[in-house]
Amino acid sequence: MNPQNAHVILLLYPAQGHINPLVQFAKRLVAKGLKATIGTTPYTVNHINAPILSSSIEPISDGYDEAGFKQAPSVQAYLQSYESVGSKALCELILKFRDSDSPVNCIIYDSLLPWALDVAKKFGIFGAVFLTNSASVCSLYWEIKMGRIDFPLDEDKFEVSLPGLPVLEFCDMPSLIARPEEHYAYLAIIMEKFQRLEDNDWVFCNTFQDLENELLKAMEGQWPLIPVGPMIPSAYLGQPTEGDTAYGASLWEPSSHTYMTWVDTKPPASVVFVSFGSMGTTTAKQAQEIAKGLKASKKHFIWVLKESDGKLPPGLSDEDEDDDGGLVVTWCNQVEVLAHPSVGCFVTHCGWNSVIEALSIGVPIVGVAQWSDQPTNAKLVEELWGVGIRARRDSDGILRGEELDKCVREVMDGAKSEGIRRNASKWSESAAKAVSANGSSDKNITKFIRTLMMGKG
Ligand code: UDP
Repeated sequence: MNPQNAHVILLLYPAQGHINPLVQFAKRLVAKGLKATIGTTPYTVNHINAPILSSSIEPISDGYDEAGFKQAPSVQAYLQSYESVGSKALCELILKFRDSDSPVNCIIYDSLLPWALDVAKKFGIFGAVFLTNSASVCSLYWEIKMGRIDFPLDEDKFEVSLPGLPVLEFCDMPSLIARPEEHYAYLAIIMEKFQRLEDNDWVFCNTFQDLENELLKAMEGQWPLIPVGPMIPSAYLGQPTEGDTAYGASLWEPSSHTYMTWVDTKPPASVVFVSFGSMGTTTAKQAQEIAKGLKASKKHFIWVLKESDGKLPPGLSDEDEDDDGGLVVTWCNQVEVLAHPSVGCFVTHCGWNSVIEALSIGVPIVGVAQWSDQPTNAKLVEELWGVGIRARRDSDGILRGEELDKCVREVMDGAKSEGIRRNASKWSESAAKAVSANGSSDKNITKFIRTLMMGKG
């Protein structure tokens, strides 16, 4: 079979941290000659740049076409609606292609949409799940499924020791596991996914072999996980792909693009980049503390604050450099900023995409975890990969300015800074190697394509 006759639908969950790695996967498959169609919610369709992806984009309704999940009364209602409306739309899309010269023969779906596997099975085509967490975090869900972690966790004496990982305590666990009552809908869908993991033809994970080698080796033969990452634009992975400098699917637009010109004016490794991802909100009190910490550090900074109205202290305003050399923006092309030689430190909430972007680009981290898998990612950033340190929040959950200042200076100029920079550049080389021709992730993708072309059965 010619690769062009293989046609994959990539089904997206409409959150930025889920969209980015899957659209990048689509680009990789297209680069290897496959036809890829992105299926996403009508609300998201207009945010995806089809020419950049060289893929067609098709709407798959989640039942909330006007404003997406913001319209839904709850997470649970949203996930249920996406399942019932979306699976019908996905079936219709497959039928639409059935009589064309490129019928669909595989669905790669986001891990929050496990019902897509039933659609694949109904049509007798391949089904593959794409996991957007690290393998380490996946292994925690896996251990719960296998009954090897007592769940619910005992907050007072919980600790778990897994191959290749530092001992994880209660505070290091993903919040979905540590505080299930707060995240019941997400946890239910994730556990459903892990219960059915082996029913998939492939289980892809956005990591690379070297990064989690000991764990991945120990789990070989036990679970079906295949590392194919890092899924970040190839320009930042030493790849020749001309112009692949952005994911090409942003739910928000920067209010202006002058921030890169601003970063250009700063000395090498002198700028702190602060970004807490796409989902979290920063309270006015927290914003004041961050501003205080950044000013105290006396570093230049670029800070993504999505909703800055009334939260910024006097003298600091959107898109305008303040007196001390700081810039606040509402959104930016994060990978482009991270890759700029003037950026020397990334203050991040430790969402998995942000962490794997920083590791791949080689930027030292100050981790300010919030929820979900972020506490685990932050722990590994510090103790497994040695590319940064964790900032501690006070008992009221606020990160104080003094703590931020101390951590930024420690990562950029302190005793550990040289080792951190060395590790960061080592992981960056290793990430580039994984996706280069015949690298570990590249080989896994090639093997997938070969099996796909042999057909099912
Ligand atoms: N991002 C971006 N611009 C911003 C902030 C974030 O492009 O101003 C991207 C970032 O590169 C990452 C994604 O949004 O790929 C956020 O995903 P992550 O897993 O880090 O966090 P989440 O948003 O899921 O909490």
